[in-house]
Amino acid sequence: MERDLTNKILAGDVRAGARLMRGIEDDLPEAIEELRNLYTHTGKAYIIGITGAPGVGKSTLVDVLITSFRKRKLKIGVVAVDPTSPFTGGALLGDRIRMGKHATDKGVFIRSLASRGWAGGLARAALSIIHVLDAMGKDIILVEAVGSGQGEVDISRVADTTLVVLSPGMGDEIQMMKAGILEAADIFVINKADKEGAENLKLQMEQMLDMVPQVEGDWKTPIILAQAVNGKGLEEIVKAITAHKRHLISSGKIEHRRKERARLELSEAIEHSLRLHVSEILDNGRFQKLAAALVMRQIDPYSAAEEIVKETLTGKKPRKSG
Ligand code: GDP
Repeated sequence: MERDLTNKILAGDVRAGARLMRGIEDDLPEAIEELRNLYTHTGKAYIIGITGAPGVGKSTLVDVLITSFRKRKLKIGVVAVDPTSPFTGGALLGDRIRMGKHATDKGVFIRSLASRGWAGGLARAALSIIHVLDAMGKDIILVEAVGSGQGEVDISRVADTTLVVLSPGMGDEIQMMKAGILEAADIFVINKADKEGAENLKLQMEQMLDMVPQVEGDWKTPIILAQAVNGKGLEEIVKAITAHKRHLISSGKIEHRRKERARLELSEAIEHSLRLHVSEILDNGRFQKLAAALVMRQIDPYSAAEEIVKETLTGKKPRKSG
């Protein structure tokens, strides 16, 4: 990786940022080295997660949110996470549309992260890319993620404010509730309010939320009807985000959330580091030998794994990268 990348990124250099993001996706040790330098310069951006099933209108909503935030002179970074897509590096369909619209705007940086990019852990890759955007000086980072059951929960662990987007007639709303989505959402957006069933869905959602015991002084999750295609409900959404941010700060919950995020990142980093060390030890055909011994039932995988991890932890010096 080139010299001075850190300084260039801190100066907001788009190409330098893009280069490091590629390095992160390719899991280059040099990328981790750069992230080390950048880390102390991060933690300033506000992270907004936007999740929901495919087709509910997340990309459209992100697009109008970008426009709205840009009017307020805020610099925006977008990470679009699509675990269902094999493409990466800004090739997702929604991205192309958005990139077309915001391509000439230097205050907007959009990056997508598909299946290839999160083999080493979705949260780790997403958080690393968030750090780069943060270091580049983005005020707000939108993390858009396709909801797939448990996926929503992950996003809420990464974001300060999580928007869960639903739309009428998707049929799986109730099912999604079971996946912990009620706890994950800070704001519900019922998009495509122009379609039949939106009001009914809102009623259903209200009933659902009523069953969750409310703590005095706690955040009351709003349910907002919207039409992302024509910007209806957008102001209400922006207001709700601002109100939620204020709530997090005044209640001190923001600290808690950020600590949880740091814990998540630390444990992912530990796992990653361990995996690197272990793979060093297992080079030189040892993996093959162990596999052969397993097939012959000379050893069992549990003891073998434990032994290797112990060996890794005690026997080897930390890997020097770069
Ligand atoms: P995503 O998969 O959740 O990112 O959804 P998209 O943003 O790609 O939107 C899916 C489709 O829904 C697109 O054809 C949008 O134009 C359409 N769409 C988005 N918002 C609305 C809305 O408010 N009303 C209607 N009728 N369609 C919408």
